[in-house]
Amino acid sequence: MTDDLRRGANPWASPGQWFRGTLHAHTTNSDGAMPPTKLVEHYAYAGADFIALTDHWKATGPADVFGHHDLTVIQGIEVNTESATTATGSNFHIVGLGVPGPIARRTEGTGPAAAQWYLDAIREVGGIAVVAHPYWSGLTLRDFDGLHGYLGIEVWNADTEVHIGRGDSSFLWDDLLTHGHDILGLGVDDCHRPGYDSVRGWTVVRAPDRSAPSLLAAVRAGHFYASSGPEILDVAWDEAAGTVTVRCSPARSVTLVADGTRGARLNAGPLGAAMRADRLRSATNRPEGVIEGELLTGAILHLGGNERYVRVQVEDDRGRRAWTNPVFRRA
Ligand SMILES: [Zn+2]
Ligand SMILES: [Zn+2]
Repeated sequence: MTDDLRRGANPWASPGQWFRGTLHAHTTNSDGAMPPTKLVEHYAYAGADFIALTDHWKATGPADVFGHHDLTVIQGIEVNTESATTATGSNFHIVGLGVPGPIARRTEGTGPAAAQWYLDAIREVGGIAVVAHPYWSGLTLRDFDGLHGYLGIEVWNADTEVHIGRGDSSFLWDDLLTHGHDILGLGVDDCHRPGYDSVRGWTVVRAPDRSAPSLLAAVRAGHFYASSGPEILDVAWDEAAGTVTVRCSPARSVTLVADGTRGARLNAGPLGAAMRADRLRSATNRPEGVIEGELLTGAILHLGGNERYVRVQVEDDRGRRAWTNPVFRRA
């Protein structure tokens, strides 16, 4: 359904290093509270490796940032359709990453065609188009009918979560994936007011170096995962054994999400269920995560063999999540 179909991209099996940053943030060039230089400093102090500045209608980038900062600034933009273009009367917000300049505003066009015009405009200038915060926008499956030429959606958007609890779009993502939209999921802050909606949404990218072109190429290739906190340290596929072995920062559950009633999950704790999943074992063969309060640092999840797609989701004991991109198993 999308032009950029990817099957089996596994960043953990790819050469390079991990870089962590956010791919959606606003400055005083639009409705953000901090000027570009201050916002970049804020993220540099927070240990980010990169940030995409994505002001509404205005391309903000490295030229707007003064002084030296030990992080990569990616030029981006956020545009939106107008006049109630979605099935429920809301509008699409679309982020363009790596755009060379502003994207022209266009008021004609209705329905998904209005969104498609912006997706095409971003792609034509060499940018990566992402459908922003679809849960907050009230987008439904119908709104994505026929949309193409975009990388994916923001599965996690911290700003819309702290505002009205509509930051996690994973239910819609699964609906789209089940219906043949082979799209990826990014994690972002959509920072407007640093401190309230910053440093809560990450895209963790596997790339050969931290330059903007390398990071953007890796994002385009699907070599990343999204997170609101947890780290995913390894995802190893064993097709012969039919397993996916995950290693992660301490978690209360590790899930293999798939279409329909397929999938698998391991939960921590003495009553933690294991559905098509095995615990990792210590050197002395002790099963992990069976003691009250003890968390998991991974799981062995079993593939059923007939999934359309599978993706891994890790949740920590504060409810924060990490989402791998889907691996497409059949058309
Ligand atoms: Zn927006
Ligand atoms: Zn935004």
